[in-house]
Amino acid sequence: MNLVDQSVVVVGSGFGGLSTACYLAEAGADVTVLEKNDQLGGRASRLAADGFRFDMGPSWYLMPDVFERFFGHFDRAPDDYYGLRRLDPHYRIFFKGDSSPGRATGRGPRADGNRVDIVPDLERNKETFEAFEPGAGEELQRYLDRAERNYGVGMEYFVYADRARFRDYLSWDVAKNARGLNLLGSMQDHVESFFDHPRLQQILQYTLVFLGGSPKNTPAIYNLMSHVDFNLGVYYPEGGIGGVVDGIAELGEELGVEYRTGREVTAVTGHEGDFLVHVGDEATAADLVVSDADYAHTELELLPPEMRRYGADYWNSRTYAPSAFLLYLGVEGDVDPLAHHTLVLPTDWNAHFDRIFERPAWPDDPAYYICAPSQTDDAVAPDGYNNLFVLVPIAPGLPDGPAVRDRFREKMLADVAENTGVELRDRIVFEERFCVSEFAERYNSAKGTALGLAHTLRQTGPLRPGHRSPKVDGLYFTGSYTTPGIGVPMCLIGGQHAAAAVIEDR
Ligand SMILES: Cc1cc2nc3c(=O)[nH]c(=O)nc-3n(C[C@H](O)[C@H](O)[C@H](O)COP(=O)(O)OP(=O)(O)OC[C@H]3O[C@@H](n4cnc5c(N)ncnc54)[C@H](O)[C@@H]3O)c2cc1C
Repeated sequence: MNLVDQSVVVVGSGFGGLSTACYLAEAGADVTVLEKNDQLGGRASRLAADGFRFDMGPSWYLMPDVFERFFGHFDRAPDDYYGLRRLDPHYRIFFKGDSSPGRATGRGPRADGNRVDIVPDLERNKETFEAFEPGAGEELQRYLDRAERNYGVGMEYFVYADRARFRDYLSWDVAKNARGLNLLGSMQDHVESFFDHPRLQQILQYTLVFLGGSPKNTPAIYNLMSHVDFNLGVYYPEGGIGGVVDGIAELGEELGVEYRTGREVTAVTGHEGDFLVHVGDEATAADLVVSDADYAHTELELLPPEMRRYGADYWNSRTYAPSAFLLYLGVEGDVDPLAHHTLVLPTDWNAHFDRIFERPAWPDDPAYYICAPSQTDDAVAPDGYNNLFVLVPIAPGLPDGPAVRDRFREKMLADVAENTGVELRDRIVFEERFCVSEFAERYNSAKGTALGLAHTLRQTGPLRPGHRSPKVDGLYFTGSYTTPGIGVPMCLIGGQHAAAAVIEDR
């Protein structure tokens, strides 16, 4: 059934909102996106100043197949909107400190013990693993074969199929295809069953930070992420992730979507066929509403109590994904040997995860990520300069006043110098900081989480909020709080599911 003559307001213009808007406009609806901030893209915002350009949020373009499928649905291709370059290396890891005593040093063709490159060539990656631990090269092949199978089955049967309810799992098809998949054990146990060396375990587990989890609280099905970053590759879109936002927004415009920025929705009232979406004293009438704003914010701050499915107790008891301490830096001179994507990991990172999930506090020995897109793209920094951001995952809700930020900034710049050899301190010409308070203020994010609800077992699949409001007909949710979850590709697919729910219900 099509949606001709139906008006829809989408609250929020993250990837989930933009994607939902495209599908609904294609189905004939009259779609308006209301965005609080002055630019589209949500957490994929951009910062431009003094000749430097930063993607403020997502920077890894992963799962190119999902973008192809998204644009393909509309008879387009990603390269109708932006070009892509595969990065080599995909990413570089600096391990802090020495290798554990008695362990292999990791001296291999792409590794010098404290520094490892993961590259587009699997054979070279196997040699890197082998250098850490005899037999680990073949184990990597076996691990990735499993990850590839999990990816194929996971994407088709669980992610693209949107099995949002328990009963959706009770089919022969699902049982047959899920057989043999390690779905519910922890990533920690899963990776340990393949590799002994702690650094190899870390290489295969760091992607969990993208999902907002830790190796102990994330189910093993997410080993599919290794298929994503080893086999499918890591890409850089022309114009950065902001270029992808522009591409999808342009597609939406071609389909008839109207965007209004600088419009913070203050309340949603009414019912199907007669909603009012309030922005201060103004109100936009709509037959249907889809919220891409954080689910907790939508429920607790935009909906009157009788329209809420979950109360404050529910939202207070959730496991939120990390927030982040971010430093956006414009730097004079080069930043070699930082790669486009660089991870810096302590030998024992349990203490850092502990300080995110168990005993919230600023980390003593942080695991962190540095993004230096000027290593690939000349347009993001003036000649003779580089841009980079340093991202440290921290517990959501941490107090982040000026004194603690100042101290932590000093600590991070010293840590970067010590562990990568890149001294930034005397040549920073531009600097911005972004932390818990800015996530809360800029995106209306609960506890200032950077990513939303963590992908713990209790917050995955049918246990994650779905797209339909169980309370109000005509009200829907999209974005990272809903199934399938966190990450740009997941939000694009979630947008497709949210729109499918809208269309199916009419
Ligand atoms: C620092 C960081 C790094 C990341 N790195 C990666 C990565 O490398 N790769 C990857 O795939 N993913 C990454 N992610 C995750 C990814 O960015 C998110 O999962 C995804 O972009 C979230 O999209 P969303 O649809 O949930 O909407 P959001 O991006 O959360 O956008 C929601 C929008 O709603 C708006 N809004 C809120 N309240 C209102 C209101 N009352 N009225 C109007 N508008 C409102 C907000 O301003 C915002 O624009 C990263 C995220 C962060 C923060």
